[in-house]
Amino acid sequence: MHADVIAIDGPAASGKSTVARRVAAALGRLYVDSGAVYRAVAWEVNRRGIDPRDARAVSAAAARISIATFAGGGAVRFKVGGIEPGDALRTEEVNAAVSPVAAVPAVRALVTGLLREMPRFGSLVVEGRDIGTAVFPEARAKFYLEASPEERARRRHAESRAAGLSVSAVRDSIGRRDRIDSSRTVAPLSVAPDATVIDTTALSIDEVTDRILKADGIRTLPRPDAGPAARER
Ligand code: C5P
Repeated sequence: MHADVIAIDGPAASGKSTVARRVAAALGRLYVDSGAVYRAVAWEVNRRGIDPRDARAVSAAAARISIATFAGGGAVRFKVGGIEPGDALRTEEVNAAVSPVAAVPAVRALVTGLLREMPRFGSLVVEGRDIGTAVFPEARAKFYLEASPEERARRRHAESRAAGLSVSAVRDSIGRRDRIDSSRTVAPLSVAPDATVIDTTALSIDEVTDRILKADGIRTLPRPDAGPAARER
C-alpha cells in the first residue's frame, strides 16, 4: 500500500513540531511526532539505569520495550509499558540520552517499524529526522525545515522546558545532538533530494505553515478515510 504521508524533517528547534501539528489540523490528518518515540526509548533506558552510550545494553533493552500505539486527539500517540510518558520526555536527561540511543540500529529498527504501521490509523503528517529519506521514502510530499543555530537556540531557550539553562548551554546541547544525528551510520539527518527546503530563521510559525499548505497539490492529497480507526478519533 502507498502510505499517505506528508513528511516534515529537520534539526531540533527548526519549528517542525508546531508547524507539523498545524498542518495536520488544517488538513484533517493525524500528527505523528517520531522524535517522541525515540525520546520514549531513551527515557526507558534511563529509567532502567542503562548507560545511553552502551550500544550493546541499549540494543538489548530495545528488544524488551513494549510500545503500544493508538489514535486520539488528532495524533497517533503511544504508551510505553502501559504509560503515556508526556512531559517526562522533555527533560535535559532525556535530551542528553536521546541522540546516542537513536543512533543504535536496533532502536532505529524498532521505531521505524512502529512508524511504518501508523498509516493504518489514517492519513498522516509525520515529523522527524529521517521520515522523507528512510521511513517513508515514498511520502506524497516532503519538507525540510532549517534555521540558523542561533535562532534555534533562542527558540528552545524561550520554551519553558529550557528553564534554568543559558542560551549558550542550550545551543551546545542542540549542537551536540545535531552532530550525532548527522553523523550516525543508520539514517542520518539529511535532506531528501525531492524535499522542499524552507529556511524558517526569519519566518513566523504561521508563515511556514502557510507555505506548506500552499505547496503544490497539498490540499488535493487524499483525506483520511472514514474507516474504523478514523472513527475512534
Ligand atoms: O524531534 P526531537 O528533537 O524530539 O527528537 C529527539 C531526537 O530523536 C533527535 O535528536 C534524534 O536523535 C532522534 N530522532 C531521530 N529520527 C527521527 C526523529 C528523532 O533520530 N525521525
